[in-house]
Amino acid sequence: MASNTKYIFITGGVTSSLGKGIIAASLAKLLQSRGFSVTIQKFDPYLNIDPGTLNPYEHGECYVTDDGAETDLDLGHYERFLNTPTSQSNNITTGRIYNNVITKERKGEFLGKTVQVIPHITDEIKTNFYKLGEDGKYDVVITEIGGCVGDIESLPFIEAVRQAKWDLGPNNFLVVHLTLIPYLAAAKELKTKPTQHSVKQLLEAGIQPDILVCRSEHHLPQEVKKKLSLFCNVQLNCVIEALDAETIYDVPLLMKKEKLDERVMSKLKLRTNTNTELEHWKDFLGRLKNPTSEINIGLVGKYVSLPDAYKSIIESFIHAGAAAECKVNLKLISSEEIDSENAPRKFEELDGILVAPGFGERGLDGKVETVKFARTNAIPFLGICLGMQVAVIEFARNVLNLKGANSTEMDPNTEHPVIALMEEQKNIEQMGGTMRLGSYPCELKKGTKSSAAYGKTKINERHRHRYEFNNQYLEQFEKNGMIATGINPETNLVEIVEIKDHPWFVASQFHPEYKSTVLNPHPLFVRFVRAAIENKTKN
Ligand code: GLN
Repeated sequence: MASNTKYIFITGGVTSSLGKGIIAASLAKLLQSRGFSVTIQKFDPYLNIDPGTLNPYEHGECYVTDDGAETDLDLGHYERFLNTPTSQSNNITTGRIYNNVITKERKGEFLGKTVQVIPHITDEIKTNFYKLGEDGKYDVVITEIGGCVGDIESLPFIEAVRQAKWDLGPNNFLVVHLTLIPYLAAAKELKTKPTQHSVKQLLEAGIQPDILVCRSEHHLPQEVKKKLSLFCNVQLNCVIEALDAETIYDVPLLMKKEKLDERVMSKLKLRTNTNTELEHWKDFLGRLKNPTSEINIGLVGKYVSLPDAYKSIIESFIHAGAAAECKVNLKLISSEEIDSENAPRKFEELDGILVAPGFGERGLDGKVETVKFARTNAIPFLGICLGMQVAVIEFARNVLNLKGANSTEMDPNTEHPVIALMEEQKNIEQMGGTMRLGSYPCELKKGTKSSAAYGKTKINERHRHRYEFNNQYLEQFEKNGMIATGINPETNLVEIVEIKDHPWFVASQFHPEYKSTVLNPHPLFVRFVRAAIENKTKN
């Protein structure tokens, strides 16, 4: 275990969805602005080895890291806030913990002992708690414990946090408990009881929270803070109010105002003279909140009833919008509702169209109609992963006149498999973690829209797919105006296509949205937003 690394654990109480990920990312941002190197990891209590096999409706988007881990969407927030990459080690589930322990048991590593939750599962959890701190790269490791205290599933994690205090020592260990202070309109009162109960549950598990972060719709008056301090056994100045924010990107500054970073630093004896004023962050917020133009972008996909399914895309538009000082109104449109007849009406007010990533047949026809509409009406278009594949299918059917052209994912017997299963995927039987995942290099052709957007020709982007552009058709496509402008230099896989005679039609096999951050808005999104602004002004 690293000697100097400080560990902060973030637990949640009263209800889920309080935004532990945002609080963790905001605290990390503040500590980063004080000159500390910080990383954040998330421990999820469910039994899947990772969220890769989960339907987006279950748990929102699956976020992919450079090293090809399929992870919880909170890791996206960590990267967007901190501008540093995460990895497989930053997201551990109960399933992975048990899998590791059972694998060791089969190898005989427990020497005949009875394998138990305590100590074997908790030891495995703690080993993973400490992993990122081991090489001394980080001053602070923040660990977000998913779920709510009191859940049966979280118990081993909570127990491991209790034990960690004794491994680490008091100056290296801190618990921040995020909770909700509901407001009862009828009584005109903020209620502290649910928080008292959730802290009691932590205390029963042997954990005394050091800091309470209280989500609330109203200011917490001093009496309420005093009451929380008294009943929850927390120092008065460590009862911190977290009011609902206009945007998640306000939260670091709100937490700074509440001195969350100072409390953490004083408790962990973290000393520094650095205190950057987060100028870049404020500049971003300034541009975000004072747009000089406004556009409508349609996001067409099949998981639109749960916006979390497209979290990184939504955030990428916030970054790109701020970069272009433009308010981007993102309209989520279900691909199943679109057909050739209603497309003109559905898309009437859009200045740009994005077709989203996805899997399976459902909604495919609507996506094809969407691409056709954007292509034939010169509307700026961005396709991502399945969105790119659909752009290829549409072009094959309607420009190359290849009847029934399809992806073999949708129609294994299609006469024209313009999108086909990758060679390396053909013998794969297991579902989890077996796609083409993570970062791969791509070379862009000079003089194209893509290379203009990036301002360079060598890029690395993240992937999550099994199917690819079928290179047998490449010549035919290029002759007719759809060009492969980005190619993987080692495998020749087509990574980006563009249409020459169109104001801005770009579609990528990779996922640009995973790499957009506040500090580095993604160039494809920025260019797409600018193209949509130009389209709007033209009309
Ligand atoms: N279903 C497609 C594939 O597996 C696209 C995947 C995606 O959009 N992430 O290739």
